[in-house]
Amino acid sequence: MTGPLAPLPPGSIIGILGGGQLGRMSALAAARLGYQCHVFAPEADSPGMQVASARTVAPYEDARALAAFAAAVDVVTFEFENVPTAVLDTLAPLVTCRPGITALRIGQDRLAEKRFFESAGISVGPWRAVHSLAELEAGITELGLPAVLKTTREGYDGRGQAVLRQAADAAPAFARLTPHPLILEAFVPFAKEISAIAVRGANGAVVTFDAVENRHAHHILDLSIAPAQVADSVAMAARSQVAALATALDLVGVLALELFLLPDGRLLANEMAPRPHNSGHWTMDACRVGQFEMHVRAVVGLPLPAPEREHDAVMRNLVGPEAYAGWARLAAQPGVVLHLYGKVRGEVGLRPGRKLGHATWLLPAGSLATQPDPGLLTAL
Ligand code: AMP
Repeated sequence: MTGPLAPLPPGSIIGILGGGQLGRMSALAAARLGYQCHVFAPEADSPGMQVASARTVAPYEDARALAAFAAAVDVVTFEFENVPTAVLDTLAPLVTCRPGITALRIGQDRLAEKRFFESAGISVGPWRAVHSLAELEAGITELGLPAVLKTTREGYDGRGQAVLRQAADAAPAFARLTPHPLILEAFVPFAKEISAIAVRGANGAVVTFDAVENRHAHHILDLSIAPAQVADSVAMAARSQVAALATALDLVGVLALELFLLPDGRLLANEMAPRPHNSGHWTMDACRVGQFEMHVRAVVGLPLPAPEREHDAVMRNLVGPEAYAGWARLAAQPGVVLHLYGKVRGEVGLRPGRKLGHATWLLPAGSLATQPDPGLLTAL
């Protein structure tokens, strides 16, 4: 259901499924436009709950709570794509769901995603579906080593994947990674990882943000560099691919596409996320309208302004207690905008590996092009 074309008036209630930082930042953007957010999540003191105007604390399996939530809101959006199928089946007949059920279903299954990329004419690296050890061994023979074996569902931030370097790595990785089926991907010898974000409105209009370069530490996004220091043709190709994908998915909201840039300038799609994305956090401060406001605008049916970038930007994730410890220094740093997610209360707050906030360093537009390596900038 894509829902009505007339915008929901301010004062309407946006239901957000999921209590994490993406919902929190969406709710903050919604509040600025006069909308209220009702967050549904199993955890009471979650980042999203802290800034919501209404809350439902219940497991996602609670169909009665979901039905009551649907009745209490004007539209529903999702801050994570791994929404259980039963939740979608319960909500979809009751309330407009954006980005849309198709995008969520495809986005939560790497095999469906790869097939969809191919059907939309977007290049991907060689891959094989793996239902058995025999299929894995055959896949290794065909794709060669090294290769990357991944779960098809619920893998994120490098969880649920293994790099296979020799034949003997296959059986233990197949046993460890669950649930099956898995996907085997040829190892892509990329020069850079980049991503691009599109926003598609309820009327089908699509806008895209500048492509960015992403660097990871311990499999978690560490830095996004905006704009990506790549050829204009590469940046434009990334933007047009994510825009085409948003239209092919008939999605309403934000869509992120992660791509590998090969040394010869070709792009191969890695994965997509039908929601605001960590590699788009820089847009909150470097663009007049950032990804969270764009997402809210799409969800309520408001027009989407051109997402012009006013600054160059380097965004660093604050992952785990050590990075978080620098918050006061970052808060005092001229040109740096600090965002903290309210996770530090309670016992699990400062667990290693958790994304606790991010900081964006704003630079004059065009200045990154003169840096030998923007990733080495020290203000963050
Ligand atoms: P993913 O969960 O698919 O985003 O993978 C996490 C990270 O693992 C990516 O950002 C890459 O750095 C790396 N990676 C994933 N798949 C491949 C691949 N097929 N070849 C090389 N590196 C990969």
